[in-house]
Amino acid sequence: MTHSTVAVIGGGLAGLNAARLLHAAGIDVQLYEARDRLGGRILSLAADGTPGEDGFDLGPSWFWPRMQPAIAALVTELGLEIFPQASDGDVVFERMSREPAQRYTAPPQEPASLRFTGGAAALIRRLAQELPDERVHLGVPVSAMAREGCKVTLSLPDRTATADHVIAALPPRLLQAKVRFSPALPPETERLWRETPTWMAPHAKVFAIYDRPFWRDTGYSGSAQSMVGPMPEIHDATTASGAAALFGFLGVGAAERARIGEDALIKACLEQFGRIFGAEALSPRATLYKDWAADHFTATGTDLISSGHAAFSPTWVRGPWGDALTLAGSETSPSEPGYLAGAAEASNRAVETLLNRLAKGAA
Ligand SMILES: Cc1cc2nc3c(=O)[nH]c(=O)nc-3n(C[C@H](O)[C@H](O)[C@H](O)COP(=O)(O)OP(=O)(O)OC[C@H]3O[C@@H](n4cnc5c(N)ncnc54)[C@H](O)[C@@H]3O)c2cc1C
Repeated sequence: MTHSTVAVIGGGLAGLNAARLLHAAGIDVQLYEARDRLGGRILSLAADGTPGEDGFDLGPSWFWPRMQPAIAALVTELGLEIFPQASDGDVVFERMSREPAQRYTAPPQEPASLRFTGGAAALIRRLAQELPDERVHLGVPVSAMAREGCKVTLSLPDRTATADHVIAALPPRLLQAKVRFSPALPPETERLWRETPTWMAPHAKVFAIYDRPFWRDTGYSGSAQSMVGPMPEIHDATTASGAAALFGFLGVGAAERARIGEDALIKACLEQFGRIFGAEALSPRATLYKDWAADHFTATGTDLISSGHAAFSPTWVRGPWGDALTLAGSETSPSEPGYLAGAAEASNRAVETLLNRLAKGAA
């Protein structure tokens, strides 16, 4: 059985940042991640659907450093390369299926959306370098947490692990749905977690990958808004190295997506790309599709009926778990809940809280 001073549950941006900060501070930390990969909602894939060093972002694409100091500081500290979202050229607006799409020149976006060279997963790859491999456990969903005295026991699929403190770096709603607590959480804490929406959990993205960004030849930016669908919002997703792509968010609800199926959805999306950007858009080199609502390590059934940004809560953990458990997922950030910036901010804060607690315990 592994024992550590701190166990971090979840290896997304928040969990990895928390674990590497604790490790750097000399704290004995172990990270337990349910999936067989790190990154959580951050997922950057190559055209063949495998993790890529020049990947397309099926999860988050953008951040806004001028408004989001925590992620700006992290990007600077890690020395990551960034580039602006391509937006030069005309935007298309589809208002109704029976009228032609309108084309207009949009003013430059302010503040500009920035992207990560190598995909958002570059952030994860870089953070993971700061944590020795033996501190990271993949493919181990935590199913229960039991507290006896000063020790917490985590139930993993084929073993248990113990820790003095736990940082849970996953969406509160997922934590409430997937992890059993003994002693039980107070009902108001359970309710708070359950009612906290997981940002973007109900959504899906479609990518069409091309040999070249042909839409730029005719003065299109690759951005489109549509009330016709199936994608209400489309953007240029060409990577920093020039691998050309368009992506759109699906406007079809999660239950309907499950009924229609991936192949039919992709076909409908390609028809829309073709309608807007011309026949060349109908024949991509590859397509990618990710439905986050169908991913049980991000979404719960509740996310299909209640979504949005988390509301501010001054206290995320009450009752018998108050001094043994700290939440660090993006949704618990007071300033940027749900965003990459929120994951950075919430995990910085969780580590600060825990280091203070450990220092007081040692005094
Ligand atoms: C389609 C999409 C687009 C987005 N676009 C943007 C954007 O452009 N800009 C932006 O700022 N944000 C965006 N976001 C939000 C952004 O991805 C999140 O804010 C951020 O990645 C959250 O990081 P996190 O570490 O808090 O949570 P997560 O990334 O959700 O990490 C939680 C981790 O916990 C793991 N886990 C779950 N259950 C267990 C368990 N029982 N035991 C162990 N581990 C478990 C999960 O596998 C996961 O790795 C987007 C999200 C999506 C899905």
